[in-house]
Amino acid sequence: MTPWNLVVLGSGSAKPTAFRSPSAQALYVGRQVYLIDCGEGTQMQLCKAALAPERVVAVFITHLHADHTLGLFGLIASLSMSGRTAPLAIYAHRDLQPILDTMVAFFVVHLNFELQFHPLPDTPGATIYADRQLSVSTIPLHHRIPTMGFKFEEHPLPPNIYPEVIEKYALTRQEIATLKRGEDVLLENGDVLSTTEALYQRRNPRSFAYMSDTLYTAAAAEYVEGVDLLYHEATYMQALIQLAKDTGHSTAQQAATFAKLAHVKKLLLGHYSARYTDPTPLLQEAVAIFPNTTLARELDVHKI
Ligand SMILES: [Zn+2]
Repeated sequence: MTPWNLVVLGSGSAKPTAFRSPSAQALYVGRQVYLIDCGEGTQMQLCKAALAPERVVAVFITHLHADHTLGLFGLIASLSMSGRTAPLAIYAHRDLQPILDTMVAFFVVHLNFELQFHPLPDTPGATIYADRQLSVSTIPLHHRIPTMGFKFEEHPLPPNIYPEVIEKYALTRQEIATLKRGEDVLLENGDVLSTTEALYQRRNPRSFAYMSDTLYTAAAAEYVEGVDLLYHEATYMQALIQLAKDTGHSTAQQAATFAKLAHVKKLLLGHYSARYTDPTPLLQEAVAIFPNTTLARELDVHKI
């Protein structure tokens, strides 16, 4: 089983601090790296995490605020300098495309690879990306500008056949293949062996959801129901809930309330306001509501 690892590259909010890089995370599955948000300095963080930027196959940008986007241009320029030839897919709001075109035309003399820009659809829930190991769909978020979260889902695994069923009916290779295709088998004695009797699911497909930046949005719960890991922004403590509402952000308590509502297995908090030099109190507020909560810390790796 190829491991799914999430690396926190940056966990700070827009106001810079000496301690936190702006938002970026990398989900890596085998050799493939999927980059989610790309704040300034992301390529440096990738190198610190021992993830070669050349491994990035696609970049998913939630919204066009500087602390989620500015690292993209440097990353593209460096990838071109390093001789990349594989295409790079970018999923973002359509307004990024002309900016990207201008920046690349000006700063990158010879782009050695194809930049495939995919504007995000306006309607959430759409599957925007799929390869042989996973698919990505969008989650509705509410912020000051158009914003979408992303859900990464492993493809459903092929079912297995109970070994005792194979033995009991002395199944041939052909009959096993038929069952695995999802078809019932007619046995020699005239009985029908159904897939329900013969097949079982080894484990549930893995899933990860990323929600930043956003107001508390209960309506998004159905899009992330039961995911293995949810990253949800937690910019403020509950005492500043009005400020959270005014700026389109969430409190740690709201992130935990959302995690509980969506029955996720584990919650990861991040995007802390620079006013909290130590984010521990944010964690304390959240665990009171959703115990399985962790703070995103730069370069931490979370297994999914
Ligand atoms: Zn923002």
